[in-house]
Amino acid sequence: MMGLVRILFLVMVVMAVLALVKGIASASRPAPRAGPREGGRGRRATRQGGKLFRDPVCGTYVTAEGSPAAARGRETVYFCSDECLSKFRDSAD
Ligand SMILES: [Zn+2]
Repeated sequence: MMGLVRILFLVMVVMAVLALVKGIASASRPAPRAGPREGGRGRRATRQGGKLFRDPVCGTYVTAEGSPAAARGRETVYFCSDECLSKFRDSAD
């Protein structure tokens, strides 16, 4: 009986120590994932592609990079999705 209590006590001590070590490790490292060059999360989406273009169908602002695009006269228009692109193509012409 006493042996079991001892084992349980030891397990609890080990778990407490592990939790403490984890806490110290995470506190001493200031989040290495977020690089200082990025300037924080959130801004990245608007900054990366540079200029923002307004989706003429739904009004969402999108970056040129990775967005579906279509020509409207001499300018290029960008869309948030292929769905808006097809809507635009349906409404034009
Ligand atoms: Zn859209």
